[in-house]
Amino acid sequence: MSLPARTPLLWGPKRLPVPYVVRWSGELVVTDEDVTLRPDGRGLAYRGETVGDRDRHGVLWARLLDAPGSGRPDFRAMHPARQRRAMLERLCQVCAGPADRNGKGWLFVLGRPAAAEEAPGWPEGLLCTKPPVCGPCARLAAGLCPHLGEPVFVRSAKPRVWGVFGGLVTPAPGGHLIAGGDADLPYGHPAAPWFLANQLVLELTRCTRVPGP
Ligand SMILES: [Zn+2]
Repeated sequence: MSLPARTPLLWGPKRLPVPYVVRWSGELVVTDEDVTLRPDGRGLAYRGETVGDRDRHGVLWARLLDAPGSGRPDFRAMHPARQRRAMLERLCQVCAGPADRNGKGWLFVLGRPAAAEEAPGWPEGLLCTKPPVCGPCARLAAGLCPHLGEPVFVRSAKPRVWGVFGGLVTPAPGGHLIAGGDADLPYGHPAAPWFLANQLVLELTRCTRVPGP
């Protein structure tokens, strides 16, 4: 059996491998208070904004410290910059090596949906925020991630960059900015200038369910 490209950080007495994309408690949001209005008043901006604060579609992204290994890992949360990098470069979400790809496409590990939600054709067209995996890490993840339940292995021949996950931030009387609830937003949406992203969303198309990596 081949090994992951890079050994993940280990954590706790059980020395659990911590995936590359997982956010650690020491990785705080650093500049919430620096979110402000654009000079033209038609969207959000950062005070002292830099080129890296927006993606190629012009959407503003949450700023977090990048310090994997600091504090405790939160296995249910992902670090925005590492998640985005893994999605765009098709890196394994666990070891950050190249994700597995064959003639049927890139390999993803998904949680099995509740039976009632398992529509015909699932997961074709699924909006997905979990980056792909390499073969060795897929086997590891299936054994270690309790939240996956019984995982489903899927290959997508065409994972399409769809949009972002995050929250709307809108101005209120008095000059305050109000953060709304979390949502998915497709690129090109008119609300994009008011959105603060923290995950990239792929649409999984041309999907095939496979028995395993
Ligand atoms: Zn891997």
